[in-house]
Amino acid sequence: MAARNIALVGIGKIALDQHVPAIAASPDWTLAATISRKGAVDGVPAYTDFAAFLAERPDVPVVSLCLPPVPRFAYAEAALLQGRHVMLEKPPGATLAEVQELERLAAARGLTLYTTWHSRMAHAVQPARDWLTDKVIRRAHITWREDVRKWHPGQDWVFEPGGMGVFDPGINALSILTHILPQPVHLTGAELEFPANRQTPIAARLAFSGNVTADFDWRQTGPQTWDIEVETDRGVLALRMGGNVLEIDGQPAGGQASIMGEYPALYARMAELVRAGACEVDLAPMVHVADALTLGRRILTDPFDF
Ligand code: NAP
Repeated sequence: MAARNIALVGIGKIALDQHVPAIAASPDWTLAATISRKGAVDGVPAYTDFAAFLAERPDVPVVSLCLPPVPRFAYAEAALLQGRHVMLEKPPGATLAEVQELERLAAARGLTLYTTWHSRMAHAVQPARDWLTDKVIRRAHITWREDVRKWHPGQDWVFEPGGMGVFDPGINALSILTHILPQPVHLTGAELEFPANRQTPIAARLAFSGNVTADFDWRQTGPQTWDIEVETDRGVLALRMGGNVLEIDGQPAGGQASIMGEYPALYARMAELVRAGACEVDLAPMVHVADALTLGRRILTDPFDF
């Protein structure tokens, strides 16, 4: 089947790091336009105004939104109202209700809406889900500790309302957790550390039903830690390197850390969804974040500046 035209909106860090190379390597897609106030991609028609793009480019049926979550809804709504299929970076929105509204708009028009969770496409996540499917979970713990200055240099939006703070990476861990556990869990408590000069947490400790806990921290320099350990009635599973490496009872059991395949897999899935005329909307990871922000105990900590 011929490649379809797709447009990328919000040409910033993740668009350039992952989306542009994934589209370039995909047999399913041709990057036919970008929409960004400043960013652009060499050789691709660039628009600064989304309404102008929608009016001038009926030949582009699909848009992929790589903006931060707060400005994203207005773009997604306008695209769906103009009959375009929409792919959303994670987290899919600034609030749960706005994503539900997008889902309603897409369904009413027979359009695809895809709330992507890139970490679910990491190499060892599906094998982990398969291994856990017939096990009894005794305990699970997430350790997600990284350096915000390395991964979000100068991005003040992560510390503004709706930017989610440390839940911006933490939601990746929750997207894996909600995908691999055979039974759902719910949040029962949280401690959130807010820098005195910021609106969102820089660290969070979460407790869930089923003896599941999580430790998110954005202040880790040096080696970074993205681990999930699950103790079951028949052994201990560990996902390391953000879901890319699998261990069972301390022994290597699959996956690989060298080649990241997450974004190519997301674009292949979007092609399947558009072909099938289907939506894929899963808010489970974001429900846990909303619940942590609802139930969390607030602790003030040192001011943070990039
Ligand atoms: P970013 O570079 O700060 O922003 C992406 C682009 O969005 C910006 O370059 C900007 O382009 C546009 N933009 C920013 N604020 C806007 C506004 N208020 N209105 C309209 N356009 C705006 O962010 P990012 O790191 O790429 O993250 C974007 C999304 O990808 C987030 O949801 C994040 O969670 C997700 N993500 C990020 C990473 C990562 O490593 N950074 C990894 C995976 C997923 P113009 O100025 O040209 O308009």
